[in-house]
Amino acid sequence: MSADPISQLKAALGDAKVLTATDKIQDRRHDYWVVSHIRDRLGAQGPAPACVVRPATVADVQTVVKIATATGVPLIPFGLGSGVVGGVITSPNAILLDIGAMNATRSIDPENLLATFDAGKNGLEAEQEVAALGLTTGHWPQSIAVSSVGGWVATRASGQFSTAYGNIEDLIYSIEAVLPDGSLVTLGKAPRASAGPDLRHILMGSEGTLGVITGVTLSLRRAAEKQAVSAFAAPDMRTGFTFQRELVQRGWQPPVMRQYDVRESKRLHEAAKDCTVIMVHEGPAALVDVERAAAFELAASMGLTALPDTIVTHWLGHRNHVAGWDEILSRNIVADTVEISASWDKIAGIYDSATASVAQMPGCRAASAHSSHVYRSGLNLYFTFAIQKDSPEELEAAYFEAWKRIMTATADGGGSMSHHHGIGRVRREYMIRELGPEGASLLRTLKGALDPKGVMNPGVLIPDA
Ligand SMILES: Cc1cc2nc3c(=O)[nH]c(=O)nc-3n(C[C@H](O)[C@H](O)[C@H](O)COP(=O)(O)OP(=O)(O)OC[C@H]3O[C@@H](n4cnc5c(N)ncnc54)[C@H](O)[C@@H]3O)c2cc1C
Repeated sequence: MSADPISQLKAALGDAKVLTATDKIQDRRHDYWVVSHIRDRLGAQGPAPACVVRPATVADVQTVVKIATATGVPLIPFGLGSGVVGGVITSPNAILLDIGAMNATRSIDPENLLATFDAGKNGLEAEQEVAALGLTTGHWPQSIAVSSVGGWVATRASGQFSTAYGNIEDLIYSIEAVLPDGSLVTLGKAPRASAGPDLRHILMGSEGTLGVITGVTLSLRRAAEKQAVSAFAAPDMRTGFTFQRELVQRGWQPPVMRQYDVRESKRLHEAAKDCTVIMVHEGPAALVDVERAAAFELAASMGLTALPDTIVTHWLGHRNHVAGWDEILSRNIVADTVEISASWDKIAGIYDSATASVAQMPGCRAASAHSSHVYRSGLNLYFTFAIQKDSPEELEAAYFEAWKRIMTATADGGGSMSHHHGIGRVRREYMIRELGPEGASLLRTLKGALDPKGVMNPGVLIPDA
């Protein structure tokens, strides 16, 4: 057999699945990471991959992985390209494995509340198909219309309704994946098992570095009988955090709980005020009514005031709008969102220090945050920054400086540096601080055992020794 990977791929899969035409490989050079878009606009874009392979079957994926490993060329899995941390950047010899054509719904099982999808299934289409049967995945990332089910697993994603329904790790029943040696594993076959470490977690958040996810079974829910909303103004972030903590620790679980600082409240809605807390309550009608009443009672007792429901219904109607980068980059502004998490006692300190640190940057136009995923022991924060510079050449450095300030404030404050977007390239250098040297070494050991030739998505997630 030829040593040339493209010839081998064409011989094994047929020409139609192995794309080398310029237009086909150019638009798979990167994901949605703003740094790649800055570089594109400067004409400094990275190289296209050697080829884009669009497998149709799991056997195709196994063939591609085996060829990549045998020839030692980089293999970069690509779901729908909505990743925002630089998980996809190609190199001239790389095989870009575009999972998007593997997008079937394999089964929907209303009795056991399970649905199995090919990994390339569009998230919104998956949700719409189960919704037609009165069911829901319960997973609503803002990017639902532009991300894949396999991408959700690979990045350890979170949906907007996570406070009650959980993050992707809580919704996964089983994962099918091709390992770097080409073998196929199916991990998970019952609602729970006590059969050693849960191997599904090796693939959740693996970002294409430990294998290719080919199929996912999600544990569904019945659609809620009732939905209601509530909104409150808290005088400051600390009071809002305490209100959210008290509500959750008393046992209430609104699927959506979000808290916006003063700056983001102004962007949220004209009726929003101070630090705005919004909630969506879902479930059996009786429970929804009681939960909403309890939220109002607690809010009043803590000095929060009620705000109009329209703030929340407006958010529900507009929450999945995905803006392009061109408009702000054309004004020499670089912006991004950075999500972190921390325990209740640490979150306010991290909010203060991260926003203050970014606000000191020359050209800062925004340094703000909201929370959107709440737990008994803490919550996340979702920082937004916008920095304006005199020229487009200055944007990348400003971007990395803003990230450094938020990462440093988070680590110094005792938080975790990523809540749901993953590591990609932008957070990789901070992984040693996140995991500790020993934890980072364990991750490298795992990588070395599964992928000794290092072909799977090099440069992503795994920190250098
Ligand atoms: C506007 C916007 C809003 C967003 N909102 C959210 C949100 O609310 N919650 C959230 O969690 N994320 C959010 N994201 C981030 C992004 O949508 C998620 O990370 C998503 O899970 C990525 O899915 P994808 O199919 O687009 O993956 P891609 O971008 O194609 O890939 C992401 C990473 O996963 C790897 N990968 C993809 N598919 C596979 C596979 N089948 N096997 C192995 N590795 C694979 C890639 O190599 C890459 O490292 C948002 C992004 C945007 C642009």
